[in-house]
Amino acid sequence: MNHIATTLDVNRIRKQFPVLNQEVNGKPLIYFDNAASSQTAKVVVDALIKFYERDHANIHRGIHTLAERSTKAFEETRERAQQFINAGEADEIIFTKGTTESINLVAQSWATKFLKEGDEILISQLEHHSNIVPWQLAAEKTGAVIKVIPINAAGEILQDEYLKLLNAKTKLVAVNYVSNSLGTINPVKEMITAAHDVGATVLIDAAQAAPHVKIDVQDLDCDFLALSSHKMYGPTGVGILYGKRDLLEAMPPYQGGGEMIKDVSFSGTTYNDIPYKFEAGTPNIGEVIAFKFAMDFIDEIGHEAIQEYEHKLLLYANDKLKKIPGFNPVGTAKNKASVISFLIDNVHPYDLGQLLDARGIAVRTGHHCTQPLMDFLGIDGTVRASFAVYNTEKEIDVFCEALDNIVKKFS
Ligand code: PMP
Repeated sequence: MNHIATTLDVNRIRKQFPVLNQEVNGKPLIYFDNAASSQTAKVVVDALIKFYERDHANIHRGIHTLAERSTKAFEETRERAQQFINAGEADEIIFTKGTTESINLVAQSWATKFLKEGDEILISQLEHHSNIVPWQLAAEKTGAVIKVIPINAAGEILQDEYLKLLNAKTKLVAVNYVSNSLGTINPVKEMITAAHDVGATVLIDAAQAAPHVKIDVQDLDCDFLALSSHKMYGPTGVGILYGKRDLLEAMPPYQGGGEMIKDVSFSGTTYNDIPYKFEAGTPNIGEVIAFKFAMDFIDEIGHEAIQEYEHKLLLYANDKLKKIPGFNPVGTAKNKASVISFLIDNVHPYDLGQLLDARGIAVRTGHHCTQPLMDFLGIDGTVRASFAVYNTEKEIDVFCEALDNIVKKFS
């Protein structure tokens, strides 16, 4: 029974996730690893099955009925994604295999053309490795320099320090909207405005934001934005890179191959228009088509209802967890998504993860692909419980009881 008063009907939502109705190690599954990958909605799985059973054909090239069907459905997802993030036009949506590839695309194409020696790239201490390493590679190639925006102990970006770091040499600011390790929601709109004031281009890593926060790229005025379908109740292997038209048009191709060309000859090749210029080869067609249904699923519930519900789960869990002896939250930002990272005195995170799994509870342990953040915090890793729209207060009760029992055994 869900006690949280809300406009959202969690029992109805859970019907979309048959995967949750199973036992793991003899206990009902409690899935709290949503920041790594959320479960896939049934409407999405149904769309995938329909594609592979009825409509499978390569896109854009064929004139036969199946090719036309799959091309139409594929392009419908592009239009749906345009609406989902309120991009000005569908051509500004490029399909990639996820946030990582989206960021690498910008770091290889845009950065190698537009960065030069001495230019500065600003990233924050909170970033996922996917928003660090591509810039290190770009810096190596171009001679640009990476500067790190510091954070406080709560896991919030120090805005004054950020403003001090911005200068005429700052050519790119790349920050996450929501931190995957700590759940901090960053004030990206203000950060984008400040970056534009010094003429810098801004990339927003929205991998963790997309399932929780309404994204409006025109309102944010970001230049690039990256997200992944598998964190949004959609399939794996699909993501989006949003880019402003003028930037995408000015960028060289990222990969060469079929689809991204206009004409090929041995004396020279001309490239296709955006978005196809950046979509070489056969994409994950079925997964892209099914991704549309994930966005429909989120929008049908509504971001406001999702945020309200998940926030209540977060507060409920915080309240119960702090009563557990030895519980130490890691990351206590004022503005947080439904992610709780923590440590328990005298219990290694890895042991906790295993002992919780033995009780059917899936959490993530380790550095969460944010080693520089862990270094700053002076720890090797945390246990992370991250909630999605199908999680319940009752699951949090079971989780806290399990933790309490584990702690007692160790004390
Ligand atoms: N950035 C953030 C903030 C993330 O949480 C993740 C996934 N953990 C990524 C980037 C990388 O996403 P993907 O693995 O889907 O490419």
